[in-house]
Amino acid sequence: MSLRPRAHIHLSSIAYNWRAIKAAQVTGITGAVIKADAYGHGLREVAETLHDAGCDHFFVAHAFEAEATRATLGSHPNIYVLNGPSPDEEALYRENALIPVINSSFQFRTMADWLVDGVKMPRGYALHFDTGMNRLGLPAKDTSELADASAAQAPVLIMSHLACSEDSGSAMNAHQAEQLKTISDAFPNVPLSLANSGGVWLGLDYHHALTRPGIALYGGGHPPEGLVLKPGLTLEAPILQVRQLAAGETVGYGGSWRAIAPTLIATLAIGYGDGFPRSASNKGFVSLGGKRCPILGRVSMDLITIDVTQASDLARPGVYGQLIGPDAPLEEQAALAGTIGYELTTGLTPRVKRIYQS
Ligand SMILES: *Cc1c(COP(=O)(O)O)cnc(C)c1O
Repeated sequence: MSLRPRAHIHLSSIAYNWRAIKAAQVTGITGAVIKADAYGHGLREVAETLHDAGCDHFFVAHAFEAEATRATLGSHPNIYVLNGPSPDEEALYRENALIPVINSSFQFRTMADWLVDGVKMPRGYALHFDTGMNRLGLPAKDTSELADASAAQAPVLIMSHLACSEDSGSAMNAHQAEQLKTISDAFPNVPLSLANSGGVWLGLDYHHALTRPGIALYGGGHPPEGLVLKPGLTLEAPILQVRQLAAGETVGYGGSWRAIAPTLIATLAIGYGDGFPRSASNKGFVSLGGKRCPILGRVSMDLITIDVTQASDLARPGVYGQLIGPDAPLEEQAALAGTIGYELTTGLTPRVKRIYQS
């Protein structure tokens, strides 16, 4: 038996979550964001699963991710490259019929150079406007100039990205929706896209023609009360050793945890070398048969130590504890480590063996 940490990838749960998002939308088509190896779940496997479920619009960050998506799914779906094109990528975009998302005037000129001689982009292109996030996107003030410059080939999508979608009370949300509407007046009949996962939960005013959920597909983020998403993966690691500590003994590097009473501890084969964050030291937990066992001391590169006093019946070498999954909710574990679910799943390294379940 291997003593590697492993992640069971629940492909049917990811498809279930996509359908749940689709059902929550009042209008518009439901896309899927599968950048960063589908948030650590495996780009090819997730792309195939969602395509089979009926998804036709896939978003990635980089052209190489889009190329892998195209190779997996064949010619049918639309594949958008969120970070946009670079001048040397024309052949890659054309051969794979990728949809560049144009984020800057430099990227617009890059693509305009590809359109000379009237050869259009095979599946068109998207324009991404910045409506208040100030991260990436075309400035709203350039709208009419861009509308004029799009005469050679009109965009297939006008999009923007929400800065505060996780906070339904933020005034930023309505402000951005309003800004996008104003921009869209310059592009009559071009479909709009604004919502990420959090945007879908904000309701009808954010759904438009196409949504771009990512984290919700994988069971993360903060869906509204009553809408239950399923974990996209279950992360587990095996116990290597169990030991009894006497009061006063310490655990791990720096002796950062000290027993005040006799404590049964177990050492598991997972650490920050697998992507389980060091910031979970003395904060996170492992579920053993449904019982929460606190992490004691520092998370090291290959190992963690946990308190199994309350789960002594299960604590023996070869037994797997759960770090993310039904008994260890992603966002709860992430918050204990001072981070977010996105970072936890995308951070899992290749050392974590992925086991795909349909
Ligand atoms: C990553 C990303 C998304 C997906 O966001 P989630 O919060 O994971 O749903 C959507 N749109 C853009 C532009 C993104 O960069």
